[in-house]
Amino acid sequence: MSGVINVDAVVMGGGIVGSSAALALALKGQRVVLLERDFCGSHSSGVNYGGVRRQGRPLSQLPLSQRAHAIWGGLRELIGIDGEYLRSGHLKLARSEQDMDALRAYAEASQGFGLDLQLLDRQQLRARFPWAGDVAVGASLCADDGHANPRLVSPAFAQAARRAGAHVFEQAEVVEVEHDGQAFLIRTASGLHLRAPWLLNCAGAWAAKLAGQFGEPVPMHSGHPAMLVTEPLPMFMDVSTGVEGGGIYARQVARGNCVLGGGQGFALDAARARPGQAAVLEILRNAAELYPPLAGAQAIRTWSGTEGYLPDREPVLGPSLKQPGLLHGFGFAGSGFQIGPAAGEALAEWVCAGQSAINLDAFSIGRFQPAPVAESPFVLPHNVIPLHRGRSST
Ligand SMILES: Cc1cc2nc3c(=O)[nH]c(=O)nc-3n(C[C@H](O)[C@H](O)[C@H](O)COP(=O)(O)OP(=O)(O)OC[C@H]3O[C@@H](n4cnc5c(N)ncnc54)[C@H](O)[C@@H]3O)c2cc1C
Repeated sequence: MSGVINVDAVVMGGGIVGSSAALALALKGQRVVLLERDFCGSHSSGVNYGGVRRQGRPLSQLPLSQRAHAIWGGLRELIGIDGEYLRSGHLKLARSEQDMDALRAYAEASQGFGLDLQLLDRQQLRARFPWAGDVAVGASLCADDGHANPRLVSPAFAQAARRAGAHVFEQAEVVEVEHDGQAFLIRTASGLHLRAPWLLNCAGAWAAKLAGQFGEPVPMHSGHPAMLVTEPLPMFMDVSTGVEGGGIYARQVARGNCVLGGGQGFALDAARARPGQAAVLEILRNAAELYPPLAGAQAIRTWSGTEGYLPDREPVLGPSLKQPGLLHGFGFAGSGFQIGPAAGEALAEWVCAGQSAINLDAFSIGRFQPAPVAESPFVLPHNVIPLHRGRSST
């Protein structure tokens, strides 16, 4: 294709963050192009566990997560499908008194964010969730958290963006980005040439390259959560579950299959990953202890994905500090599915209003940039020769 397409904003990456941003921009009347290297929702956003939970997030993320919770509540109106989204509750199990203390501390610290956590002791846990294994000594329940089908939800955000007026190009890898002082010039491997004053870097685990090009290197690494799904089983569990300290999470879908995750797989290459035998066996071992009805269940499929992690496990979300017009939204560290729609919306607000309704300072890319060396009145610049060098002070 020849000729340059001029738009207000280009979004690089059609995961849930980029697609949400494109949708929000289109709904705000912006001319927006969404460029996706493969297919929208084909990476982390479409292969994740499907947990839509606020419980357990760092407090820094809770305002954004609460906004996402409201967006999820209107999912059908926004993207046209319910995506099997259920506010089933999220139950975080404790395997020791120490873990229970951690759940208590989190419930106290997160008061005021609207999570309404309920702490359950061993007896209360058994009374409400009789399937829980003996190793569980208690739990914390967030009744309004839940789960959804990522394979349906994430591509549907891109389709909704298209219906709202965004131009969505799949198999359109961004291969070249320049800035001419006024706007970004963007080229794709598929031959598109675009020009826009705003560029949204929503390229997931692959976003560090663009940030680095504009002088903002980030220490991001890829991780590969291991996942499996069992054969359909009689229904026994109606909440999505996790464990304090991590290690395993599980939910049962309406067809009876249980989706489980835990541990890490490995990369086949930069874009593909597998769960690995060790991680799968560990999930099955943990599962039999915590969810006894799963003992002996057959795993019918295993998979993994490629996700970006920063050392503090917080995303980078907000404006570049070096290049006007560049916005970053990446590095969601295994928990961007729930928060993604609010992250995309916040980026769209930056484009339209120069700020977002929710303060994003905690997620600034500036936290990875070296602090400027403070100028001390006692340190001379390199090119200044002291007047009395070498003389005795007496
Ligand atoms: C196995 C697994 C389980 C998870 N479970 C959960 C969970 O239960 N709950 C939860 O909240 N989160 C979960 N997560 C995390 C969540 O899936 C991610 O944080 C979220 O999907 C990130 O969305 P994204 O849009 O930033 O990235 P992605 O979905 O990775 O999208 C980025 C997109 O950018 C594209 N791209 C890259 N480079 C270019 C380029 N040069 N040009 C054009 N396009 C490009 C990629 O092809 C990709 O589609 C899980 C992740 C994994 C992998």
